[in-house]
Amino acid sequence: MDHFLYKNGALHAEDVAIADIAAQVGTPFYCYSTATLTRHYQLFTEALSPLPHLVCFAIKSLSNLAVLKTLADLGAGMDVVSAGEYLRAKAAGVPGDKIVFSGVGKTREEMQLALTGGIRQFNVESEPEMRALSQVAHGLGLIAPITIRVNPDVDAKTHEKISTGKKGDKFGIPISRAREVYAEAASLPGLEVVGIDVHIGSQLTALEPFETAYLKVAELTHALRADGHNIRRLDLGGGLGIPYARDNSAPPLPMEYGEMVKRTVGDLGCEIEIEPGRLISGNAGIMVSSVIYVKEGEDRDFLIIDAAMNDLVRPAMYGAHHDIIPLIEAEAGAEQRAFDIVGPICESGDTFAKGRNMPPLTEGALIAFRSAGAYGAVMASEYNSRPLVPEVLVRGDHFAVIRARPTFDEMLSRDTIPEWL
Ligand SMILES: *Cc1c(COP(=O)(O)O)cnc(C)c1O
Repeated sequence: MDHFLYKNGALHAEDVAIADIAAQVGTPFYCYSTATLTRHYQLFTEALSPLPHLVCFAIKSLSNLAVLKTLADLGAGMDVVSAGEYLRAKAAGVPGDKIVFSGVGKTREEMQLALTGGIRQFNVESEPEMRALSQVAHGLGLIAPITIRVNPDVDAKTHEKISTGKKGDKFGIPISRAREVYAEAASLPGLEVVGIDVHIGSQLTALEPFETAYLKVAELTHALRADGHNIRRLDLGGGLGIPYARDNSAPPLPMEYGEMVKRTVGDLGCEIEIEPGRLISGNAGIMVSSVIYVKEGEDRDFLIIDAAMNDLVRPAMYGAHHDIIPLIEAEAGAEQRAFDIVGPICESGDTFAKGRNMPPLTEGALIAFRSAGAYGAVMASEYNSRPLVPEVLVRGDHFAVIRARPTFDEMLSRDTIPEWL
């Protein structure tokens, strides 16, 4: 469910007409709904209650400070994968003890930043990383709380580029070697083992791969406790999928996910952490664009729009589907026509949809890409020297620009021509 609905035939975000935002901000832009972000966060906390838990929003899915503050004010923790994301979490007012640090290649500088700024835990992904963290923490006279990310060798049955829990993926250590690696962790100075971490992929549309992985984590919890480790936290990762097309069979709901968590690891007495990104932010955002030209081709017609793959890369990168709807609702029974919907960039990959049925649209018509909140703005670039796409946040009947479109001058001024040139 989300809060982008037609009212009197005009698409709204909550109580704001999207066309009013477009008139002020210009297209393309991203628009997020506070009510949807809030609802999705709360679905997870309700689903995990009464277990002790912390929902850590995966910042990489949508990292605007205003969005992070919206979630932080509700009590959310944050999952970060870089120094920049760590600093975003802090800037949004998240205390260090609600920030978990994930990622396969944390540098020593990043470790130092988080150790001195405050951190809930590092999710360690390899032995060399664990040894480096031990050195950095010990050198600072600090203790780094850690979990070790285990790779449970489970097929997440999702897109290969976002599957992370199979043997051969670059993430975590094989679960079969976990006891050995935990033993080394316990022997190293500057580290304190607090739990186990697992994350098997993104956009999962079934519970069964999660369930298989979590049962393995439960078994490992018993084994590690028997080895003398104080396993008191389980970080179960993110990855629950969202419906991208309205005719899709719906992925499991947070409530069903929560029931499965309780069933698999609920009786271990551990605090549960989860790291959802997409399920909180995905359907809380749309990307709005306008039609530049309607081009009639030889065997197909094109809608050439002012958004491009640099603004929303998911279709080009993952072959992803986004529902695309007009801002003015089509009349019931209105005639539809198939279009290829494309951006202006000189690459055939700059195609958002092929043969998509749309109501009649003319030059200047506004359209919205649904489910664009996650892995949308954060993956945008200035390819083709197109200024970075702006972001807007709606709450109730008002909105604010939360990242302005850079001017051409700002964009050019970031380059430097050396004196000797
Ligand atoms: C990407 C990622 C997430 C979030 O994944 P979603 O599919 O957006 O929920 C959580 N944890 C880790 C370690 C990740 O890499």
